[in-house]
Formats: sequence, structure tokens, C-alpha cells
Amino acid sequence: MTRSVCILGSTGSIGCSALDVISRHLNEYQIEVLTAHTNVSKLLEQCEQFKPKYAVMLDDQCAEKLRLALQEKGLDITVLSGQKAIDSAAELADMEIVIAAIVGAAGLLPTLLAVKRGMTVLLANKEALVMSGEIFNLAVKENNATLLPVDSEHNAIFQCLPKSDKTNLPLLEGVSKVMLTGSGGPFRRLPLEEFSGVTPEQACAHPNWDMGKKISVDSATMMNKGLELIEACFLFGLTLEQIELVVHPQSIVHSMVSYDDGSVLAQMGNPDMRTPIAHTLAWPSRINAGVASLDFFAMSDLTFEKPDFIRFPCLQYAIDAMRQGGTAPCVLNAANEMAVAAFLSETIRFSDIPVVIKNCMALVTIEKADTLEAVLSADRIARDIATQQINHLKGEK
Ligand code: NDP
Repeated sequence: MTRSVCILGSTGSIGCSALDVISRHLNEYQIEVLTAHTNVSKLLEQCEQFKPKYAVMLDDQCAEKLRLALQEKGLDITVLSGQKAIDSAAELADMEIVIAAIVGAAGLLPTLLAVKRGMTVLLANKEALVMSGEIFNLAVKENNATLLPVDSEHNAIFQCLPKSDKTNLPLLEGVSKVMLTGSGGPFRRLPLEEFSGVTPEQACAHPNWDMGKKISVDSATMMNKGLELIEACFLFGLTLEQIELVVHPQSIVHSMVSYDDGSVLAQMGNPDMRTPIAHTLAWPSRINAGVASLDFFAMSDLTFEKPDFIRFPCLQYAIDAMRQGGTAPCVLNAANEMAVAAFLSETIRFSDIPVVIKNCMALVTIEKADTLEAVLSADRIARDIATQQINHLKGEK
């Protein structure tokens, strides 16, 4: 039987990897909806190959260009545009699976809608969960949705945890610790005094993973690991004390679960997002992802280190935000998104990113995060404060 799929953010790194996996299993998956921000040529290419019913773009002018291009090619695909169309993409057709692969806070509303419709949501957009963990989890429960982690570390943890006999979903029975691994990014060994001169190109050149720009910068500051720590707490009901951060530069072990009896289960594989995407698409079955299996004889040493909190202060800010609770993770996320965008546009230095986040966390009042309005309001306020901080630092650059 064919399963219908919507990809939110199909033109990005995760979206393209998801379509690559699906292209290998066209009898099992039917693409119904694809969405993008401005990338007309990539979305056109995807429409030609997968023939969805709907293509949705945030930008109106780009959508018009896509509409004309599709008409010229004689393709009968409905093109929609604007914020409302993106936010409600998950209800356009009768869909079973939604792949949440928009980057940043922009993914929250469309992903939450998919959850509220009780769909199977394959979550790459970690920012959505970081911002709104409590209400997101409640929506999953109340609407009987299935939330499956695409983020490679969380997918690894999911695979290594014991499962409920009834639901096949993870439990924490007998688990003593979860070890969340991370490569340490491209600047693990860069002298600290050189951090201020790092360029966007250098920050985006991750040693092991080929990803979108925002998550690449997050990996370089290790804020990505901080966001993932928060994501792991919300996904699996873990406390901060139950999670240990482990730097593993080779990105072969994607995370581990340690049990009371001394056993440690690790999920390993080549660093290729098609593996966790294929795992969640087919769960609880397995399908071919097009990824080569590990060649243990060709592998170099696998090494493990403790994280360096002085070099990567964002890690501590994420831990503090999770400990504080309420809207603190949302504020952290908003400040980080603003700081990363300002760094990518060369408005502030790489070393200014943690400064913006730290100041923002100190200046924004943290509230309860028990309604969507509270979360969206915290996001807006944090962005305003972050903009002030960025303007201040801009003068110093
Ligand atoms: P990309 O930047 O490569 O892609 C982002 C996608 O979202 C694109 O389709 C983009 O459209 C669309 N988009 C961007 N802004 C908006 C907006 N305001 N409204 C609607 N759509 C928008 O990101 P990645 O694929 O790297 O990451 C996506 C998510 O997955 C992130 O949350 C990231 O943290 C997470 N993730 C990514 C991994 C990776 O390997 N890349 C690994 C694990 C998690 P357009 O192309 O038109 O700009």
C-alpha cells in the first residue's frame, strides 16, 4: 500500500535527502505536498520528478515563477503561496506522513498542525520542539500522533532504547544514561584567539556532514549539541542529569544508551542523513537508504572526548535554559537564530554569536511556556532584544 507524504522544506539538505530515499521506493510512497521558501529551480525539478498535488512557496513572486514554469511543462500541480499556505500545508491533502524539514522557528506552526492532525511526523526541525517542548508533547499525546526523530543522534537513541510491546515506542526501563555524541565541529582544535576571524565559509565547512548553513554554524559553535540536548529531554522524557555529552570527531557512533547492567548499545553508520530518514519513513520496518554500510577495516580510530565548555559556551547556555524551563529554551533558540543570521550576513563576528545569546538570556523575562501564544510572544521579544544586541555589536566589528 502506498503511503502519502508531505515534505515541509523539501528543497533543503534534509528535504533533498528524503526525496532521494523516496525515489528508491516509489511503489511505497507518494509525494502529495512539497514546500519551499524561495528556491524555484529546485522545487520545479522536484515537481517534475515526483509530481505532487501541491507545491507551496513562502514567497509570492517565487510561487508565480513556479506556476508559470509548471504550466510551460504541462504539469497540473496546484501552486500556493504565503505564510498561511505554508502553515497549513499539512492539511492540504489526505496525508499519512509529514517530514518536518523547515529550518528554524518557521517550522513550528506547520509541524504543530501536522501533530494536531494526528499524523506520523518525522521530525528534523529540532527548533520547533526546543521552542515549545511542553505543548508540542501534549499535542502529540492528545492527538495520538506519532513523532519519530530524524536528527541522527536522536534517531540513534530511539533505536537503542527498549521498546514498548504494545506501541513499539521507546521506554526508559533499565536505562542508566544516554550518551549524546557530537563531532565537535570544524573548530575543535582552532586556537580560541582565532575564533573572531572565522568566516561564514569556514564555519559552514563541516568535516563530516553536508548540511544547510544554519545547522552548520550551529555545529561550529556547538549550539547544535545544546539544542539537541534540549530536544532529547523533550523527545524521550529525560532529565539533563541522564544525558552525557560525548565528543566523537569521526561521527560514526551516532549516540549510545547505557544500561543498569553495564551494557552499552550504540547505533553506528556512515554520516549520511538518508539512514535516519529511511529508518523513520519505514519504521518499524527497514528499507534501503542508498547508504553504504560501514567498512570497519577501512575505518580510522574511533575516539571520544569530554566537551570543552570554555571553547563552546553555547553548550552551557543551552543547559542553563533547559534547567530554567518555561520559555527559556525558546528565547535561547530565537537569540541563536538571529545571531547566526547576522554572522552569515557578516554583520557580526563568529565570536559574537555566544555574546548575543548570553545577553538575550539575561535581558528577556522568562515566562511559563504552557500556551502557543506564550511561546510565540517569547520568540518575538527575544528577536527584538537580539536585534538590539546585534546592532550594538555591529558597531564594534
Ligand atoms: P536547509 O537550510 O538546507 O533547508 C531549509 C528548508 O526550509 C528549505 O527547503 C527552505 O526553502 C525552507 N525554508 C527556509 N526558511 C523558510 C521559511 N521561513 N518558511 C518556510 N520554509 C523555509 O536546512 P537543513 O535541511 O539543513 O535543516 C532543516 C532542519 O533539519 C533544521 O531544523 C535542522 O536543524 C534539521 N537537521 C538538519 C540536518 C542536516 O543534515 N541538514 C541534520 C539534523 C537535523 P528554500 O530552499 O527555498 O530556502
